[in-house]
Amino acid sequence: MLEWFVIILMLIHPAYYGHRMPANFNPQPGVVYTFDDGYEDFYTKAYPLIIKNKAYGMVAVITSRNDDKHINAEQIREMDRAGIIIASHTETHRDLTKLSDKEIEWELQTSKEKLEKIVGHKIDIIVYPYGAYNDKVISIAKKVGYKYGITTHPYTKGLFEIGRIPLEQEVKNDSTRCYQLCEKYYYLTR
Ligand SMILES: [Zn+2]
Repeated sequence: MLEWFVIILMLIHPAYYGHRMPANFNPQPGVVYTFDDGYEDFYTKAYPLIIKNKAYGMVAVITSRNDDKHINAEQIREMDRAGIIIASHTETHRDLTKLSDKEIEWELQTSKEKLEKIVGHKIDIIVYPYGAYNDKVISIAKKVGYKYGITTHPYTKGLFEIGRIPLEQEVKNDSTRCYQLCEKYYYLTR
């Protein structure tokens, strides 16, 4: 069985989800469950739970990974239509801070274009592989047309440095507890 990648919740900026949610969606305020790397079990396990609980969910896709351990174009399209936020996690998942300007741009742009072709609308969010970013990465992300950048540190410093909170293993396996914790965190930090 595939391991879930770290389940992370993060505070959402109002501008971040405003135009993406179907009218009948009634999510918990303030948190998005985000999953990196686009493993197939996001589709089989997490996605049904997110929809059932009317929560916000986001999956960050590494667009070069097309084997059957990863979600495919059809699944991405279905989840996008259902209200899951589809984000880019670059084309090949390299540490962006170690690449040349040209390579960074290629990683960010290639994945953005591939995902846009699949879902039929703009992809606004880049999730930095390993949470690694610097000023150069941010400025290239802006140039390529992203509007938000997601990190792995818990604090948020701006639209390209949006923080996330990792959930513990025991919490991951208990969706009720997961929700309580998310709500608590939201009210503590708003
Ligand atoms: Zn990753």
